[in-house]
Amino acid sequence: MTSLPNSLEARDIASQLHSYADARKQEETGGIVIERGDGIYVEDIHGKRYIEGMAGLWSVAVGFGEKRLVSAAQQQMEKLPYYHTFTYKTHGPSIELAEKLLEMAPVPMSKVYFTNSGSEANDTAIKLIWYRSNALGQPERKKIISRVRGYHGVTLASASLTGLPNNHRSFDLPIPQVLHTTCPHYRTNKKDGESEAAFAKRCAEDLESMILAEGPETVAAFFAEPVMGAGGVIVPPDGYWDAIQPVLKKYGILFVADEVICGFGRTGEMFGTMTYGLQPDIMTLSKALSSSYMPISALLINDKVYQPIADESHRIGVLGHGYTGSGHPVAAAVALENLKIIEERDLVGNVRAVSPVFQNRLQALGERDLVVETRGIGLIGAAELHHPAYADAPGSLGGKANAEFHKQGLISRNMLDAMAFCPPLIITEPQVHEMFDIAEKALDTVE
Ligand code: PLP
Repeated sequence: MTSLPNSLEARDIASQLHSYADARKQEETGGIVIERGDGIYVEDIHGKRYIEGMAGLWSVAVGFGEKRLVSAAQQQMEKLPYYHTFTYKTHGPSIELAEKLLEMAPVPMSKVYFTNSGSEANDTAIKLIWYRSNALGQPERKKIISRVRGYHGVTLASASLTGLPNNHRSFDLPIPQVLHTTCPHYRTNKKDGESEAAFAKRCAEDLESMILAEGPETVAAFFAEPVMGAGGVIVPPDGYWDAIQPVLKKYGILFVADEVICGFGRTGEMFGTMTYGLQPDIMTLSKALSSSYMPISALLINDKVYQPIADESHRIGVLGHGYTGSGHPVAAAVALENLKIIEERDLVGNVRAVSPVFQNRLQALGERDLVVETRGIGLIGAAELHHPAYADAPGSLGGKANAEFHKQGLISRNMLDAMAFCPPLIITEPQVHEMFDIAEKALDTVE
């Protein structure tokens, strides 16, 4: 990219260190400066329009430019722009949002704890789980199991949960309490001749072997996304959750469903937990909770988790945890209005109505030479690319395809060589076609 001195592109290069980028490459190429958004579209500072095929970061469920969220924020800003929820203080927006989340919860939940990001929600979940183990007089029960290719965030603890090498490499992670079990990706992890059902069963056996090797009394919790997102959109094989959950029950291990991407409609039900019949003890939520108009996240915890924590905080005299922004009134008011929109406009119904077309078009990408696998559910999917010429440098083909998608007016995201699609939940059928028409054209240009 050539950019004029003092252009926003040049000032960006001079001023920011960016996430998930090669900083040296970014110094040379800069980034696309997005200026505005409307519905499923965003526009850069040069007036180029893109379909936001990733809903930002898997998150802008109601689309861009939603005026109701703007006025919810404004009204709350004017009334009470900030207050906290520490030490016997609270405020209306956080109470109303907590009540709403408990009412929406797909399994019985007792309390809500607010945080500001998905990473903080998962980090807090680990801390509360450890606190609970101590409360129960089981100080040895501290190990946490997550999965290879799972994504749970980037704080020291949540990055440790994340099962991706680039979140660990040179950060001296993971922390020793976190272990990673088998990724349920059938195509890459199956053994010769193994059926999908046998593979699902083996994933559960691997989990059980790990628990037994570590000592079941040392394992506190299992963290998992109902459908893996940032690890490459891995849809679990049939029977996977039915095999995994009894193992957790057998050893009294808490189940944390990371619903940060799946939550609020993405899989065609309000929660991924409903799509797969999960029985989590803790759910972590963010992203579509506010459609990312404001940073906010939440943990829902059931009574099994809440009661010992309440006892321990009473014994100590305080729950020594909390963020200045926990339950921020403006973020809470925006999230509440966002959830109203999701319900009133029946966006889950829209996902169900539009997803067959989305999944058909995704599958059709599989007919292209470059595409070795497509996978998806609801309004989330990925197309895995492969070409022998790029085989030595994983991610290079995906990066090239991503650049081509952008050129043609579609913002996608390559997770190494898997191209992800995760549009706003308001997307219409013609817009799904528009998105995949661009993807097809772009893929045909990549060589
Ligand atoms: N959990 C999942 C499933 C995610 O996809 C993400 C982010 O993509 C996170 C947690 C971390 O959220 P945040 O980036 O808000 O810290």
